[in-house]
Amino acid sequence: MAALDDELGAHVSSRGGVDQAPARARLLDARVLQLFTKQPNRWAEPRIAPDTARAFRAAREREGVEWCVSHDSYLINLASPDPALWRRSLASFRAELERCATLGVEAVVTHPGNAVDGDPERGIEANARGLTEALEAVPGPRVLLELTAGTGTSIGATFPHLAAIRAGVPEPLRNRVGVCVDTCHAYAAGYDLVGDYTGVWQAYEDALPLTTLELFHLNDSLHGLGSHRDRHAGIGEGTLGPEPFRALLLDERFSDVPKILETPKGDDEVTLDRRNLALLRGFRTPS
Ligand SMILES: [Zn+2]
Ligand SMILES: [Zn+2]
Repeated sequence: MAALDDELGAHVSSRGGVDQAPARARLLDARVLQLFTKQPNRWAEPRIAPDTARAFRAAREREGVEWCVSHDSYLINLASPDPALWRRSLASFRAELERCATLGVEAVVTHPGNAVDGDPERGIEANARGLTEALEAVPGPRVLLELTAGTGTSIGATFPHLAAIRAGVPEPLRNRVGVCVDTCHAYAAGYDLVGDYTGVWQAYEDALPLTTLELFHLNDSLHGLGSHRDRHAGIGEGTLGPEPFRALLLDERFSDVPKILETPKGDDEVTLDRRNLALLRGFRTPS
């Protein structure tokens, strides 16, 4: 991927239409953004009208947004053992990829899902099969597997899980599958970014080439190491504290990897995001 002028951004609202999102990124001085292309807690799969796609592309250009990622619906479970829910999830995921292709959104970040039968190997296989079908059907957007906090029966809370899902997608489609590491999820899953920053990335490299890491979600965590609880906090205000974020911002291996905030926004959607981004930008200067 081409070098970005600034890889720091945030999840922004699509209220009023997806074409409204780039202006919200601009209010944060952000050149990368994450958005929902639909209501994430509904099964309805709206199609993107050509006018909307044009407006989105024009807004991106105007506001100087260099890279966009969508987050898939919370209802999708491509690891489901229930054939009906799996098919519904696949249709929804495929529709998400289609909306991204229409909009020119570069990638979709997806949670690997829940193996509610307690069989993660089967869940991993089902997920890879779903991704393969969707990638085959819709050319274009990349798919980024998000590391999860490991709550309940969720799969994808370890680097080897993500590697296994990716390996289950045959070449050449596999080349469109990357990884998103959410710092809150990583810490909650037991990856000690505070006490063993170097070791965490060694563990990543033991499972996957570092080039597969294509996105960070930068969130502090309300809960502790290995808690398997997914609650985001403002940068430096949670159990991670500022140091892992400083280390990430100074880590040259990741300087071109987009970094998106999903931290609590407060009332006006701008003040806290701006404050968190200012903190992160400050970390780029070695102290
Ligand atoms: Zn995330
Ligand atoms: Zn989360």
